[in-house]
Amino acid sequence: MKDDCLFCKIAKGDIPSATIYEDRYFRVFLDVNPASKGHCLIVPREHFDNIYDLDGETAGRLFALATGVARALRKALSCDGLNLVQNNGKVAGQTVNHFHLHLIPRYEGDQLGLLWKAKHLKEEEMEELRKKIKNAI
Ligand code: AMP
Ligand code: ZN
Repeated sequence: MKDDCLFCKIAKGDIPSATIYEDRYFRVFLDVNPASKGHCLIVPREHFDNIYDLDGETAGRLFALATGVARALRKALSCDGLNLVQNNGKVAGQTVNHFHLHLIPRYEGDQLGLLWKAKHLKEEEMEELRKKIKNAI
C-alpha cells in the first residue's frame, strides 16, 4: 500500500468504486470516465507502478482473471468486441501510477479511436530492432 496512491485506496476499499469483482489479489471496477459502456479496470491490491514492476505470478493471475471478466462483459453487455489496454509511462497515457488493465467493450459503429496508423520500416531497421530486443530478453 502506497500512502498517496488512488488505486491502492480504491483496491483497499478506503475510496468507493463501482466494484464488479474482488478477491484477495484484485479489485475490478468500472472506470469513472469510461471510453464505452462497461469500461472497467483490473487493479492488483498490491502496489506496482507499472508493467516493469509487476511479478510473473501476479501477471498470470491477472490475465486469467481478465479472461473471465472479458466473457462476463460479452455475456452481460452483448458487446461486439473488446480491447485490452494497459498504459505505462506518461508518454503512453498512464495517468494513475498503479498498474491497471483496461477492458474496453466495443460496439459496432462506436468510433473509438484506439487504433494506430501503421509505420513502414526498412528491412534493415526491422532486423536491427529484432536483434536489439532479442538480446535484451
Ligand atoms: P490510465 O490513463 O491508463 O492511467 O488510466 C487511468 C484510468 O483511471 C482512467 O481511465 C480514469 O478514468 C480512471 N479513474 C481515475 N480515477 C478513478 C476513480 N476514482 N474510479 C474509477 N476510475 C478512475
Ligand atoms: Zn497503489
